[in-house]
Amino acid sequence: MRGHIDLVAVERAVNGEAPAYMTPDEKRAAADVLVKNNFGVKEISERTGVRPALLTQWFPHLAPQRLGEPKCGTVRGYRRHHSRGEKACTLCRTANSTVDRARRTFQPIPNELVA
Ligand SMILES: [Zn+2]
Repeated sequence: MRGHIDLVAVERAVNGEAPAYMTPDEKRAAADVLVKNNFGVKEISERTGVRPALLTQWFPHLAPQRLGEPKCGTVRGYRRHHSRGEKACTLCRTANSTVDRARRTFQPIPNELVA
């Protein structure tokens, strides 16, 4: 059951001026507003005093997405070869040097090579 919510406290938290004490319902209400306005977890946590882990329980879509296994032909694949002490395969070496060159020359980095 939702208790009494002090809307002024919620508004102050949303604006980054949270009062010294807020009830859990008020924190949740403030977090709701901030999520709807596309604030990030760190900012919402700072404004509401709610731990990031709890925020991602309340709003699962805010949780960092797990990356899948690195694939060959990507920079992550290249790094995986190295962390395993292997020589990188041609696909991975090509991906890594392409991304490296793009970074050095301030060119756009192809997304599929860093996935
Ligand atoms: Zn590879």
